[in-house]
Amino acid sequence: MYMQGVANRLGVVFFPAFDWAISPTHPERQERLLYTMDQLKEEGVFDIPGIEEYRPDEAGLEDVRRVHFSFPDTESHLTPSHLIAAGGAIKAAKLLREGDADKAFALVRPPGHHAMKAVHGGRGFCNVNIEAIMVEYLREHYGVGRVAIVDTDCHHGDGTQDVYWHDPETLYISLHQDGRTLFPGSGFSSELGGPKALGKTINIPLPPRTSDEGFLHAVDEVVLPILEDFRPEIVINSAGQDNHFSDPLTDMNFSAQGYAALNQRLNPDIAVLEGGYSIHGALPYVNTGIILAMAGLDYAYVREPDFDPESLRQDKRTREYIHQICSQARQSYFHPPDSGISRNMEDGYFVRSKEIFYDTDFITERQREHLLDCDHCSGLLLMESSSSRLKNCLGIEIPRGACQRCQSAGQMYFDKAQQNESLRNMQLIDRPGGAVRRFRRE
Ligand SMILES: [Zn+2]
Ligand SMILES: [Zn+2]
Repeated sequence: MYMQGVANRLGVVFFPAFDWAISPTHPERQERLLYTMDQLKEEGVFDIPGIEEYRPDEAGLEDVRRVHFSFPDTESHLTPSHLIAAGGAIKAAKLLREGDADKAFALVRPPGHHAMKAVHGGRGFCNVNIEAIMVEYLREHYGVGRVAIVDTDCHHGDGTQDVYWHDPETLYISLHQDGRTLFPGSGFSSELGGPKALGKTINIPLPPRTSDEGFLHAVDEVVLPILEDFRPEIVINSAGQDNHFSDPLTDMNFSAQGYAALNQRLNPDIAVLEGGYSIHGALPYVNTGIILAMAGLDYAYVREPDFDPESLRQDKRTREYIHQICSQARQSYFHPPDSGISRNMEDGYFVRSKEIFYDTDFITERQREHLLDCDHCSGLLLMESSSSRLKNCLGIEIPRGACQRCQSAGQMYFDKAQQNESLRNMQLIDRPGGAVRRFRRE
């Protein structure tokens, strides 16, 4: 069927995790990728020269530990499926860096974009952040610097936002259904990143029933101009497919054609599957559309059986509202407002408190975070965290490119914290040293 060659050699890393589900009837279950595989085989996608299927690698615990503070430890939040999903994303990155493919799509599960910097359990079907694990693998092993993550899942990627909140080298842009109408209830225009990374987090909360037109407007008017300015070395698409009109968990009107067109315009180096729970009606078509778009092939024939563009058309009010949200988001990147950060300072540290709910595991967590206001690097991070399961945890991160003072301060805090009888669990992520130290009081 496809006699024409591909414009981009595409690696598709496929891992359905057939033996893992939160529960047998849970929407995040193994059938999510079964029908996609059937569809791809039926269309003969893997017979097209230049599109190759690959098996994932398995991520190591060290790959998770350089990203997350895990309490009480990394092992207790992981199944082999989580390590393979993260390893699938890593494999996609390796295919590019080793020259085996021009682009890669990691079709893996379970997903990851609700997993935050600190992990006490599962949130929004996610235990570890597979995109962040991939990005930090790229930085550790291939010296990659500036990275952009564009999240097109219907839910706000609050986990990825949290992991990169203080990182000026990682641009995070999320398009999602307005948090007033959907889990996790965040991702508003005012969330713009931490004091040292202001404007490097951009949220575009779209109203329910946004259709192809609205999504593509956001890409053209906000995402592309920002990417052009930010100049990332790698663009990653967190490709959640739950904006589809048939998705049972959400209220959007996006189509397979829309997803493919979005991918073509965004032109990501790597796509990583996130959510998407319309197992028959959406996933097989959206995934096929994305694969064809990434390979640079014609995707015009990809259509869902019940696709009716007339019934999905946006009304005038929705359109005007989207235009307003988009111009605000664009403004926030190019002219980030004064966030009033100096009001939340203590002894040279920026302070932030948060409460986090883990809907999958029914855990609540309270955090208090201190970020050193350093003139020479992005600053030492200290995070005190207590959850309804585990009290008195401490995470310390010496960031990439940390100055000597922040490196010494991080090590000193960790040594001192071990003398503090009230602290139960500690983890130090030392990025310049390429090491992780852990301490647990029995
Ligand atoms: Zn989602
Ligand atoms: Zn410093």
